[in-house]
Amino acid sequence: MDTRRTFLKSTGIAALLGFDLAPMYAQARELKISRTTETRSTCPYCSVSCGVIIHTLGDRAKNVTPQVVHVEGDPDHPINRGTLCPKGSSLQQDIVNPRRLLKPQVRRPGSDHWEDISWDTAYDEIARWVKKTRDESFVEKDAQGRTVNRCESIAWTGGCTDTNEFNYLVVKSMRSLGVCYLENQARV
Ligand code: SF4
Repeated sequence: MDTRRTFLKSTGIAALLGFDLAPMYAQARELKISRTTETRSTCPYCSVSCGVIIHTLGDRAKNVTPQVVHVEGDPDHPINRGTLCPKGSSLQQDIVNPRRLLKPQVRRPGSDHWEDISWDTAYDEIARWVKKTRDESFVEKDAQGRTVNRCESIAWTGGCTDTNEFNYLVVKSMRSLGVCYLENQARV
């Protein structure tokens, strides 16, 4: 923090004295990404779908865990042409974050906390609950006696990182269960 404060103080003084700091900032950025691997991706936050370039260090070295060090807007992307909003600009902190969840969790009925479970347990429990809920609530005919074959007690909501292909499969599988409360966020 001290280093950062000192840097901000000295750059502030330099700016006050009339020096053009743009080349210095450009060089600092250049040094930061000079040895990185570039991966093109899509910002996961909203449906605008801005293109991003993710800079990673250590991809090609053995025994080194790749580390995302910088994320910036993709100047070649037709949607955002290099720009990002504040959420997209903070994407690196979303990727490299000790609070990021890396395994499934469940909060049992009546419990006041979340517990870690394995992927196999999560799949088993989801399948069991979906079947139980559908079996108990499936509606074959409506009040007028018309065949409807729908499941009104399960809903699906998709995330903004879901691809169109994934959403296609979601619609197919949910419709096959009779689920009618279905929402997703179409992406490229
Ligand atoms: S950068 Fe901002 S506007 Fe663009 S997709 Fe991400 S959240 Fe949406």
